[in-house]
Amino acid sequence: MEGPLAEEARAILAAARGLLAELVEEGVEALPRAPAPATAAGMPRAAEPERPAASEAPARPAAAPPVQPDSALFLERPSLAQVRETLGECQRCRLSESRTQIVFGDGNPDAELLFVGEGPGETEDQRGLPFVGRAGELLTQMIEKGLGIPRSSVYICNVVKCRPPGNRTPQADEVAACSPFLDGQIAAVAPRVIVALGKPATSRLLGRDVAITKVRGVWHEYRGIPLMPTFHPAFLLRQYTAENRRLVWEDLKAAASRARGGSG
Ligand code: URA
Repeated sequence: MEGPLAEEARAILAAARGLLAELVEEGVEALPRAPAPATAAGMPRAAEPERPAASEAPARPAAAPPVQPDSALFLERPSLAQVRETLGECQRCRLSESRTQIVFGDGNPDAELLFVGEGPGETEDQRGLPFVGRAGELLTQMIEKGLGIPRSSVYICNVVKCRPPGNRTPQADEVAACSPFLDGQIAAVAPRVIVALGKPATSRLLGRDVAITKVRGVWHEYRGIPLMPTFHPAFLLRQYTAENRRLVWEDLKAAASRARGGSG
């Protein structure tokens, strides 16, 4: 198809693709359907359940009643072993029902650079280690080949320690139930710099809902520790553009430089 109509169709398609990519990156997993169209008689269709208008519909499931995070579980600087022991064979939230095993964390207990992801995926759930699937391979490559740091000298963990079914985003009560353990891990390692991978990790560590496109590349703080938010490697795999790679690369270089004592 050629001509102005084809051109317009291509422009609409490109805009829709761009919008979808942005929504995926923001963590939106489903969109509400448009309200049921009126029938010929002007009445809503009887069989269609009433749905909220798009503008009032929440993009995520409503938050479950908050689980009180027990931040006083640990001493000021616990050891990783103490945090792991307190976590035990955790059944504090529903993720325990579908996990194969807990994925606690991996790496150097005295790391200067600590990475926080969202939650284990299928490969991680099977192997018991964070970031060992496809996204993990990309992260490992960026750390080892890009930054020239062995993966074993950084520490890697996740917001939640059990795989969410179907790799969905962890829900608010699951994040809250796991919070003392992530806080405990960070206190134990006491890194110089934290890299938050993606929206859920950044939102959890900053204690507010963030748009990753707005906060990435900008220094923040978690309990006095410099924190650099960047795109999650799984997002990078989906949107493997030169621009996205450049942005993540800049964020990682700034984080590594600051962890070595530079200004970032
Ligand atoms: N994605 C994460 O956020 N964490 C993992 O461990 C693997 C994939």
